[in-house]
Amino acid sequence: MKTLITNIGELTTNVVSGDDLCGTLRDAAVLIEGGQIAWVGQASYAPSANNIVDADGRAVIPGFVDSHSHIVFGGDRAAEFEARMAGEKYAAGGIRSTVAATRGASEDELRARMRGFIDEMLAQGTTTVEIKSGYGLNIDTEERLVRLAAEVTPEVTFLGAHVVPAEYADRADEYVDLVVGPMLDACAAHSKWIDVFCESGAFTVAQSRRVLEAGIASGLMPRVHASQLRPGDGVQLAIDVGAASIDHGTYLTDADVAALAASDTVLTLLPGVEFSTRQPYPNARKLIDAGVTVALACDTNPGSSFTSSMPFCIAVAVRDMGMTPGEAVWAATAGGAQALRRTDIGAIAPRMRADLVVLDAPTRVHLAYRPGVPLVDSVWKDGVRVIGGQS
Ligand SMILES: [Zn+2]
Repeated sequence: MKTLITNIGELTTNVVSGDDLCGTLRDAAVLIEGGQIAWVGQASYAPSANNIVDADGRAVIPGFVDSHSHIVFGGDRAAEFEARMAGEKYAAGGIRSTVAATRGASEDELRARMRGFIDEMLAQGTTTVEIKSGYGLNIDTEERLVRLAAEVTPEVTFLGAHVVPAEYADRADEYVDLVVGPMLDACAAHSKWIDVFCESGAFTVAQSRRVLEAGIASGLMPRVHASQLRPGDGVQLAIDVGAASIDHGTYLTDADVAALAASDTVLTLLPGVEFSTRQPYPNARKLIDAGVTVALACDTNPGSSFTSSMPFCIAVAVRDMGMTPGEAVWAATAGGAQALRRTDIGAIAPRMRADLVVLDAPTRVHLAYRPGVPLVDSVWKDGVRVIGGQS
């Protein structure tokens, strides 16, 4: 089966061409075969196919790669959000209320909720999602969370070191012993990544290093939550251990920025967090100009960012973080792929997975220009139209 999507008004390939980061083609076509992109080029030169889809001049972009989410959890924290909007400050410890609700939820409840979020994301153009554990904080529940996540994505992250659970208050090192010992043993087989929240109120740099090194020794690849609430040494730690990504980076020092620019660690910005916690937005313009590779992700979670919308994050990144629309779309697609060390997604080019989004708009700029408006016409994942379309 060969499918040709043709009459594409603006195609974002992410194959850099000159100074166009997005590798934009106009009047383009894409041939899909066997779940992969087989050909990309001018519509007038397109090869033949048995299934022709007319994009009617719409824009097409790669499927969003959301490299940071926490979508296996129980409960809801709407009241905490409401109180915060009324002036209360965000603190990392709020995670504990979700831990209690998650431990109390059945496996079926957690699975149904997680699958609901996956559907919600797909309908908004997200074709790859990373999912973290971190709301169990005991062996049984953490194992359940990574096992459930592995049902829907290969990008599973063990985040037993999300926060110190209440029953280990003042015994953080003992909790780290549990995380790097039997909890890691139970979770590693279902996980690709090891992560830690390196932040005051969560884990120290020394504790974080222990967690990451134990994960690496178990065959997992490192990524780090750091510098969300204040500057710290988590960025340098992430670079030291060769992390694929350091996530948050709301508060970075000049030394952090220089070190990131000289590294192959991606900085994943999470604008939904600043939006939902009323923190200042990081200056993505300055970061990109300094040479840092930036990704955008939703950080979907019930405490600090309960959006699953990559278009929303793009709109905020353009409006409040100084990114151009092209940079923001790149960061939400190719940037996310780099943050997951994936070379088969995040671009529309031969041999890439056929994951793409047809926008109900003539240009990707509309993702920021028309905030809050559903602009997804159809979504293709692994060469199959999973959202929209007639056939
Ligand atoms: Zn997170």
